[in-house]
Amino acid sequence: MTTSGGNYRGRLAPSPTGLLHLGHARTFSIAAERVLEHQGTLVLRNEDLDPERSRTEFLAAMIEDLRWLGLRWQEGPDCGGPYGPYAQSQRREHYLAAWRKLRDGGFLYPCTCSRKDLEEAASAPNGFDDEPLYPGRCRKRSDQARWTEPAGVNWRFQVPNGEMVGFLDRHLGAQQFLAGRDFGDFVVWRRDDVPAYQLAVVVDDAAMRITEVVRGADLVKSTARQLLLYRACGWAPPAFYHTDLVRDEAGVRLAKRHDALSVRSLRERGWTREQVIGPASRPPESRCHHG
Ligand code: GLU
Repeated sequence: MTTSGGNYRGRLAPSPTGLLHLGHARTFSIAAERVLEHQGTLVLRNEDLDPERSRTEFLAAMIEDLRWLGLRWQEGPDCGGPYGPYAQSQRREHYLAAWRKLRDGGFLYPCTCSRKDLEEAASAPNGFDDEPLYPGRCRKRSDQARWTEPAGVNWRFQVPNGEMVGFLDRHLGAQQFLAGRDFGDFVVWRRDDVPAYQLAVVVDDAAMRITEVVRGADLVKSTARQLLLYRACGWAPPAFYHTDLVRDEAGVRLAKRHDALSVRSLRERGWTREQVIGPASRPPESRCHHG
């Protein structure tokens, strides 16, 4: 592996729970394009945290589709690199260290509310990402230190209610969310002993020295949550660039269930790479050994 001259580090972080769709293709090509513009390094990270939904076949299909799209990365599960492993299922120790640090810092509490309790307490879904606000029932607990391992309960991050969390998005401009109103105490470690996306993505982007995160605008509010995690961990956050969402003809945001709009299906129907992501401004360059 050769390292690049620029300090910019971007990443592609697909979850292997289905095929890539047109929305992923657009977001990932923008991420790759920005790396080229900055002469930086692109990292591919396999976000296979969820053991129930992740499949190695989907990872293989994603890698194949990404290459067909002309995207090339310099670090990843297939070619290694200095900040590996590049699969979340192999990074448990990193997440555990962050869980300990946050718990010791008094930022987390164990939550024993059942799904039924939460459903009963939930008011209307709150906005874009539809996660109901947690009513804070378990906030008062004082038995955090008793847990030497996170398994068995949900661990929530206690958000500073009433604080405005803002950032300057490099594509969407100024963003602001009110903690406790726009999002509540969120889970960082699931009761089935799986670290939650919010924690894992922050730990990995920090450990992999990512300088700019490019991802879909559906995750803008998650970015605000993650900024609180960066602060609590004492880490400098990267910059953020949220891409416009691709919607289907009914205005619904694309998801993995939109099979007809998967890159695979478009390829099979004869679409060219340019039709899927627009013309590449530069020919793809490969520095990963697989070429
Ligand atoms: N694995 C996440 C997804 O596929 C990535 C989110 C992110 O870019 O932070 O939605």
